[in-house]
Amino acid sequence: MDELTTPKLPKRIAKLDELAHNLWWSWCIPARNLYKSLDRPLWKLTGHNPVKLLQQIEPYRLVAAAEEPDFVSSYDKVMSSLAKTMSAADTWFAREYPHLVQKPIAYFSLEFAIHNSLPLYAGGLGVLAGDYCKEASDLGIPMVGVGFMYPQGYVHQHINDDGWQEDMYEQLDFNAAPISLARSTGGEPIKIKVPLDDKSIHVAVWQAKVGNVTLFLLDTNVEENEHPDRELSARLYAGDREMRLAQEILLGIGGVRVLRALEIEPVVWHANEGHTAFMMLERTRELVEKGMTFEQAAAKVRATTVFTTHTPIPAGHDVFTLDLIERCFHRYWGALGLARDSFLGLGMEPNSNLFNMTVLALRMANYRNGVSELHGSVCRRMWHSLWLEVPEKDVPITSITNGIHIRTWIGVQMASLLDKYLGPDWRERLDDPLLWERVLEIPDEELWAARRWLKYKLIKEAQQRARKCWAANHVSPGLALAMGAFLDTEILTIGFSRRFTAYKRASLVLHDQNRLKHMLRNEYHPIQIIFSGKAHPDDHAGKQLIQEVFNAAKSPDFGGRLAFIEDYDMHMARYLVQGADVWLNLPRPLREASGTSGQKAAVNGVLHLSVLDGWWYEGYNGANGWAIQNDTGTPDSPEQDKADAEALYELLEEKVIPLYYDRDTNDIPHGWLKMIKESIRSNAPRFSARRMAKDYVTQMYLPAYNAVDS
Ligand SMILES: *Cc1c(COP(=O)(O)O)cnc(C)c1O
Repeated sequence: MDELTTPKLPKRIAKLDELAHNLWWSWCIPARNLYKSLDRPLWKLTGHNPVKLLQQIEPYRLVAAAEEPDFVSSYDKVMSSLAKTMSAADTWFAREYPHLVQKPIAYFSLEFAIHNSLPLYAGGLGVLAGDYCKEASDLGIPMVGVGFMYPQGYVHQHINDDGWQEDMYEQLDFNAAPISLARSTGGEPIKIKVPLDDKSIHVAVWQAKVGNVTLFLLDTNVEENEHPDRELSARLYAGDREMRLAQEILLGIGGVRVLRALEIEPVVWHANEGHTAFMMLERTRELVEKGMTFEQAAAKVRATTVFTTHTPIPAGHDVFTLDLIERCFHRYWGALGLARDSFLGLGMEPNSNLFNMTVLALRMANYRNGVSELHGSVCRRMWHSLWLEVPEKDVPITSITNGIHIRTWIGVQMASLLDKYLGPDWRERLDDPLLWERVLEIPDEELWAARRWLKYKLIKEAQQRARKCWAANHVSPGLALAMGAFLDTEILTIGFSRRFTAYKRASLVLHDQNRLKHMLRNEYHPIQIIFSGKAHPDDHAGKQLIQEVFNAAKSPDFGGRLAFIEDYDMHMARYLVQGADVWLNLPRPLREASGTSGQKAAVNGVLHLSVLDGWWYEGYNGANGWAIQNDTGTPDSPEQDKADAEALYELLEEKVIPLYYDRDTNDIPHGWLKMIKESIRSNAPRFSARRMAKDYVTQMYLPAYNAVDS
């Protein structure tokens, strides 16, 4: 593997390359503007990828920029904030816990969504991990991340003329990605070996900078490996159970070895979802090797391990057959000081014959949490079987509600309003409810202008994509229409973007097509709905849902007021959560662990209309959006779906549409804007990643740190 090519930069602005290799730029508007101002069309063409931009830009542009006083002065400002970020000296963590700044926390995750130029994610889990790393950097939490460097990432979605999702994989150009080889303190590229079955897999390690947090990313595509093994880290959530187990062994066991090779000594270890739980076994094995019994070693590991579980759905938990586990671990359990049965027992629920990664993690971590209050209680019920000696309410799984990295998700126009009305230090005080009270002072005219602009950008983006598809001549006119050619910048716009899978009920809005048609095609107060989202390649039912929605969007019956945008990803998500008027969320109750897209929407002034589940169960206050809650007593039944669909229509007809179209003589909807302000005021501080990260530090990491000292 060659070291990556770096562009020739004039000395005065030489650090543009270093900045391009630190994804910190992605949440710093002045840093983004630096690249954008170098060559705006190229910025768009490269998909906002500064590494690529610097490789492709005409050298004279760089020479000229180095002599433009405005450019150089912005450059100096950005570089000095980058230096400040990297030193992490003047941060919340350094002020509160100066004695802990040299004590790293290792955060393991199968996905990290930082920016589209490094597409190592499938959906919500990855976005959460990415937002968390960014916030850890902002707060100065001494964290390192451990994950995979997938050259093909997750599936890309193309919808064909029949409305069927076609799955495509793209090869990432490592040269144009913001990564470099991870090196030991001696300067050598790190390579480690992980035992798998009867062989060893060689692993190379990349690093990506996320502010002052470094991600270490494992890669099996190295010459020393046989061919099929080189593909082990090629894709996310692809392949069979055996492949998945191999990936989890690589990440868990390999991840620990990578940190050892780098001479990083984490004090606290955090597993994001059960996929990463083998990390707990590898640390136990190390201690056994040093002479402890399994029980002594496990106690030490538990005391410093945090585990966050994300899925309330039984099928969402990773399980493996015992034969498969036995085949891969028959040489390993001895090294743990365990016999076969006690080893397998670590991952088995009572009366089960499967090895469950969540069970393993729950048993090997003393600090365990779900991701919303409601999800916490669902987890306690779900895993009561592991703690039968206590009543359900005392099952030791707590909750920390997810939050979003506001600086990543907020639209530029909204951010300027906050600069003006919240004061220049709002980025420092994101979790402070008093700060957000000042949203009430934003004049309605200005807020409405920002909202209109963001919606305009969304709709123009959708139309441009539809036009491009049309012009590339691979689609029928109906398809171009279904992609949003008829969208309208002036009307009430509902966004529904999420993974397409049965429990999220994307097609619930189509329940009564006549009633829906009347709303969509109303002459005076029409609405439009924009859908987006992928189905997992193996989820046939999810693909059928896409087809159902897509075919409705194609149908003249709905007048071009339904649209489906292909290939939902972080980039498109930003347009959607900023540009819609209403964010719709219709999961079957108790299935949504938290959800975060509605939180992104809320800080942008997009009102939430959702089943009272996940974070909305905590967030809804009667004045900051709308809730659907009607327990028919028969969850998961057609009756429940019907009741929820009717509640949705009623809310739209009686509350949402009238409020949106209630305008003064200047066409300003004051009632709507009042609700927007209440939504931002009440939701932004509570559902910020800032609040979430501080909760992890105070509720999980500090006790774990203390367990080491005592
Ligand atoms: C935020 C986000 C998600 C998670 O949203 P949910 O509300 O949990 O469905 C998924 N995918 C992308 C691309 C996102 O940006």
